[in-house]
Amino acid sequence: MNKIQMTTPLVEMDGDEMTRVLWADIKKLLIEPFVDLKTEYFDLGLKHRDETDDQVTLDAACAAREYGVSVKCATITPNMQRMEEYHLKKMWKSPNGTIRSVLDGTVFRAPILVDGIYPTVRTWKKPITIARHAYGDVYKNVEMAVPGPGKAELVFTREDGQEIRRVIHEFKGPGVLQGVHNLDSSITSFAHSCFRFALSERQDLWFSTKDTISKTYDHRFRDIFENLYETEYKKAFEEAGITFFYTLIDDAVARVVRSEGGFIWACKNYDGDVMSDMVATAFGSLAMMTSVLVSPGGQYEYEAAHGTVTRHYYRYLKGEETSTNPVATIFAWSGALRKRGELDGLPELMTFADRLEKATLDTIRDGIMTKDLALLYEGDAQGVTSRVFMEAIGARLSALME
Ligand code: NAP
Ligand code: MG
Repeated sequence: MNKIQMTTPLVEMDGDEMTRVLWADIKKLLIEPFVDLKTEYFDLGLKHRDETDDQVTLDAACAAREYGVSVKCATITPNMQRMEEYHLKKMWKSPNGTIRSVLDGTVFRAPILVDGIYPTVRTWKKPITIARHAYGDVYKNVEMAVPGPGKAELVFTREDGQEIRRVIHEFKGPGVLQGVHNLDSSITSFAHSCFRFALSERQDLWFSTKDTISKTYDHRFRDIFENLYETEYKKAFEEAGITFFYTLIDDAVARVVRSEGGFIWACKNYDGDVMSDMVATAFGSLAMMTSVLVSPGGQYEYEAAHGTVTRHYYRYLKGEETSTNPVATIFAWSGALRKRGELDGLPELMTFADRLEKATLDTIRDGIMTKDLALLYEGDAQGVTSRVFMEAIGARLSALME
């Protein structure tokens, strides 16, 4: 069989622990037999990040921006314990944080649905994708404990020295205070990413805030989205047969639970943090969530939503064959290959991505899956090791490719 050819390389970011082991197996068993894989390889494993003083992460992020499509393995974000474990020079920053600050985008998270594993919410038939704004609000806050009586004010000092003041509260006793901010530029790029992603997925876009209460702050988000829609995206949405819909966050929550799914739900930073965990859990498992960072410059970075599955890795190091779920990582690869195929006009590569996903879901439908899924599966299920699961996927993929 002739292997499928690629024209532009994918930016490949290798990672840590159990997911690094799965990464190599996915390539060897499920991709390289069929595709003449071209990648620009960056080793983001913690050891190599430390050796390069984290330069490798920055280089990878720049390559991701230059080439446009990248695929990333889960990586360790160091803490004190990891500093000791890996004898690190420094507590390096989260690679995802570094990549996001270079690409400046929005993270879209969507569950992978498969027959036999049913969402807790019975009405959900199609995936719900959460688009989370990744800048500002409570994640960049300034907080203060108020010791006792006094006046709290919001003061903005203009460059020319003029002040704008608002009284927040006249405290009669102790309490707490918090200052948050956001930027028109960041909200605008969030909105662009959401509109573009909705068009590329051909799904409706919902957006929700609490603008009835927050008449300036949240309302700015709403205005930016609505203005951009009217001026730049309305026509394309109408042509694609999709809609943009704004509603209050509490109304959105009620509608989401009653819906069939099949749309993108754009959320402010905190709402997106909370709602994505709710949606992931209600759909089944974190090991079945895909994640893609879409930048306003049109770059795409694909990954799994889960971490490096440390507990399984320690068992692997002891020589045990683990049953770690590779599905979200496989879908990161298929997502990246499909996007590369789309941008380079390579229909064979796109078809390959579809078949890789189909072979994965068919294997689960046939009752072969990792143990975490076997526990959720309604029907006869065999919980197997990652290796056996991937070989079963490989066999189905070979048959589809003939
Ligand atoms: P985790 O790696 O997602 O694992 C948490 C637990 O969830 C696992 O112990 C396992 O439960 C289950 N799980 C997650 N993914 C699974 C899979 N594919 N198959 C089977 N079970 C799975 O989260 P963590 O333990 O909090 O973090 C571990 C490391 O990952 C940390 O160093 C963190 O910095 C890093 N991390 C990286 C990213 C990223 O790169 N995007 C994201 C999150 C965390 P059982 O042990 O009960 O089987
Ligand atoms: Mg969270």
